[in-house]
Amino acid sequence: MAHNPDLFADRHVGPDDTDLRQLLTVIGVDSLEDLAAKVVPAVIADPADGNGLEALPAALTEPEALAQLAELAEANTVATSMIGLGYYGTHTPAVLRRNILENPAWYTAYTPYQPEISQGRLEALLNFQTMVADLTGMEIAGASMLDEATAAAETMTLLRRASKSKSPKLLVDADLFPQTAAVIATRAEPLDIEVVTIDATAPLPEGDYFGLILQVPGASGRVVDCGPIIEAAHERGILVGVGLDLLAATLITPPGELGADACFGTTQRFGVPMGFGGPHAGYLSVHTKLARQLPGRLVGVSKDDDGNLAYRLSLQTREQHIRREKATSNICTAQVLLAIIAAMYASYHGPEGLTAIARRVHGHARAIASALGDALVHNDFFDTVLAQVPGRADAVVAAANERGINLWRVDADHVSIACDETTTDDDVAAVLAAFGVAEVAPAGPELSGRTSSFLTHPAFHNYRTETAMLRYLRELSDKDIALDRSMIPLGSCTMKLNAAAEMEPITWPGFANLHPFAPAEQTVGIRKLISTLEDMLVAVTGYDRVSLQPNAGSQGEYAGLLAIREYHRSRGDEQRDICLIPASAHGTNAASAVMAGLRVVVVASRESGDVDTDDLRAKIADHADRLAGIMITYPSTHGVFEDEIGDICAAVHDAGGQVYIDGANLNALVGLARPGRFGGDVSHLNLHKTFCIPHGGGGPGVGPIGVREHLAPFVPGHPLVDELSSTLTVSAAPYGSASILPITYAYIAMMGAEGLRRATLTAIASANYIARRLDEYFPVLYTGAQGFVAHECILDLRQITKETGVTVDDVAKRLADYGFHAPTMSFPVAGTLMVEPTESENLREIDAFCDAMIAIRGEIDRVASGEWTVDDNPLRGAPHTAECLVGEWDHPYSREIAVYPNGLPSGGARPKVWPAVRRIDGAYGDRNLICSCPSPEAFADA
Ligand SMILES: *Cc1c(COP(=O)(O)O)cnc(C)c1O
Repeated sequence: MAHNPDLFADRHVGPDDTDLRQLLTVIGVDSLEDLAAKVVPAVIADPADGNGLEALPAALTEPEALAQLAELAEANTVATSMIGLGYYGTHTPAVLRRNILENPAWYTAYTPYQPEISQGRLEALLNFQTMVADLTGMEIAGASMLDEATAAAETMTLLRRASKSKSPKLLVDADLFPQTAAVIATRAEPLDIEVVTIDATAPLPEGDYFGLILQVPGASGRVVDCGPIIEAAHERGILVGVGLDLLAATLITPPGELGADACFGTTQRFGVPMGFGGPHAGYLSVHTKLARQLPGRLVGVSKDDDGNLAYRLSLQTREQHIRREKATSNICTAQVLLAIIAAMYASYHGPEGLTAIARRVHGHARAIASALGDALVHNDFFDTVLAQVPGRADAVVAAANERGINLWRVDADHVSIACDETTTDDDVAAVLAAFGVAEVAPAGPELSGRTSSFLTHPAFHNYRTETAMLRYLRELSDKDIALDRSMIPLGSCTMKLNAAAEMEPITWPGFANLHPFAPAEQTVGIRKLISTLEDMLVAVTGYDRVSLQPNAGSQGEYAGLLAIREYHRSRGDEQRDICLIPASAHGTNAASAVMAGLRVVVVASRESGDVDTDDLRAKIADHADRLAGIMITYPSTHGVFEDEIGDICAAVHDAGGQVYIDGANLNALVGLARPGRFGGDVSHLNLHKTFCIPHGGGGPGVGPIGVREHLAPFVPGHPLVDELSSTLTVSAAPYGSASILPITYAYIAMMGAEGLRRATLTAIASANYIARRLDEYFPVLYTGAQGFVAHECILDLRQITKETGVTVDDVAKRLADYGFHAPTMSFPVAGTLMVEPTESENLREIDAFCDAMIAIRGEIDRVASGEWTVDDNPLRGAPHTAECLVGEWDHPYSREIAVYPNGLPSGGARPKVWPAVRRIDGAYGDRNLICSCPSPEAFADA
């Protein structure tokens, strides 16, 4: 019961006073502050009245926060941006905005690691992969990159892995977008890749190279004929990656058909607002022979226990969570929500609709080009026209500005004009007026070349009306468990409330429709929001500077480690390249360290789960002046506040190393302790964990870094923004996924200092309550010195599995029959489940989860007693679909037990969730790799 209708914290925090008393009684503490004193090591603990949060203004109500955000949005000017450079105006179909972007059934879902209750978003992602593969003329595309520039950098490393050449040299076309070139340069240097910039229209230079990166259309708008270039490169054993605009791909021969080895780019203009730079989904596609080299997640087709087709993530052994420092990339959180919007945009328009849009865009560009006459620099354009206006660029840009249009000033003599889906005839007239051209001359010939068909699958033909699309989206989301149906107790992932008031502003035009390179005077409000949010995060973390550029935790890790590396190098310590990482670390840590040019040395854990400080000291001594630093998660990935954190930081500092504190578990620290004060030099935070940005089914995310003053010169910069002067660029957009920052801003503004500390302590109390309630059924693996866990707890099933044959998989899948999403499985310890309730779940939901777990333990006991065999019991058979009840039933347990283990809803049990498929055979799908939409006949055959 929320007693104060205005206090947002009462809406955000699940347990009310009565709940809280019960939680505290069970865990044996008197108050939340008593709990704080018992769990947080005294050496790092901040008092309630001296935790840095004093710097925050008093908590706002929802209407007050929305009013403040509306003011910030209004301080921006939404002009017609014809700047291009990877960001284009687009009409988000209202049916997609309302039913995906603004719909919690889609935006509150988690990454589809439990595929049986994720078939909806997996199908949507398979549509995305099919769309990208078809448009680029490739066979396989992954389920999204983070943005276009990082996709280009991933293409670089993919080509290097795939190449037979020993050369460390990469050719890069000078006509790449500046931010793409900057991210490639940043990523190349620590990997000892030498970038050689060329004019791709000239013959390739002499020498050995492993790869070549082109872009079509280029920054100049030029559409080069890739065919001959690819051929020439292949003759020399050089692999080729092509950045391709997907709208242009409807008209021109796609590079995949011309022999390109990889295609990359963005899907932003497929219905995803520019959002001052992000988020949007990048893409990467390859031919089948390179499938195993793909970075990031890949959805594939497999079959379930009943032989029906089912989707799940493929080839996971490439990924960071399994291969760690040998992974194909560090990508974890990607851009799923935005990938789904792009895929549905393609479904809604279909191939003819996309082609018509492309023709219209191209038509407007042709109209401008022909009117420009002699000022036109080249004739090979799709949407972007380059004009030569000697000495007049500033005047032309200013004249366009007066007409409400942003053009791109290339240099004093050149201006470029990018047309998009939203461009009108009036816009064209205004642009020409800015150039002082009155008459519209007849347009030149159309681009052509595409002869192959694309998007032929029914998924791109069946949903052209709004009714059909609406029902398709509902059909898909009904297959999934998101936070709108149940708690999602995923350890390390912090699946907390994503409040509607936090979400509302992100689709306001004042935030959504800003081009990232729009003139500063048009973006006053968003930049004020960004700097205020930076200050808020400085207060929370105790660091001196925050950069919001990294667009996921993994990217923050990379940016932070890069800062450490650059710092050492700036002091002449080039040899410092060893990064210590505890054995229990998240997979991204090791993968990021390798990308930052560091060598990973693993530090052992003690029996207690804590870092083995003896081993740590030994490793520090072994590497002495080669030590770059340590990467440590706090509280630990074991869900424990380690007492020795101070000593660990000091030992590393004494040896000249830097301390990276992985801040993914900050939900256990906000208001209690600050990593920037207790020993960290740099941390990333996951705004999509601790700070309420929804997971979106696997992204978007924001992974800002906080650094201490001495690392500030090495935080990310951007080639097109003067204030961001460092030459290290880790994302395409200067401020990363800027359009979702209002979510975190609103959360902090509405919670205030007290609300934030209360949230943290409630999350810790709830985790300890679960640990107490479940310990006798599933032993809790690790606790701190006083017997408490932090904000999550690990349930150890290894002994149970040994004695009964029932596995963590069985328990995870059975939870779906009970209507719950499974906890985190086998991370950080194989054979365990890690539970994190967060502060947002009330006692009723927490108890319902505990009751389900206890009931499952009862089922395990029936297997142990021999009543059910290990191969035929409700756990091994889980999850159960409605379909599996039809026809014969020859199991030793009843249909009722199979699907209504909580009892019947008519009798008051929680609402039934019906999984769409039975247990999926992952290995089958990896052996028979299919990563695009299966034909309708394939379903019939299954
Ligand atoms: C989630 C997580 C990461 C990675 O963050 P992403 O945003 O998914 O890239 C890193 N470390 C830990 C401990 C995490 O839980």
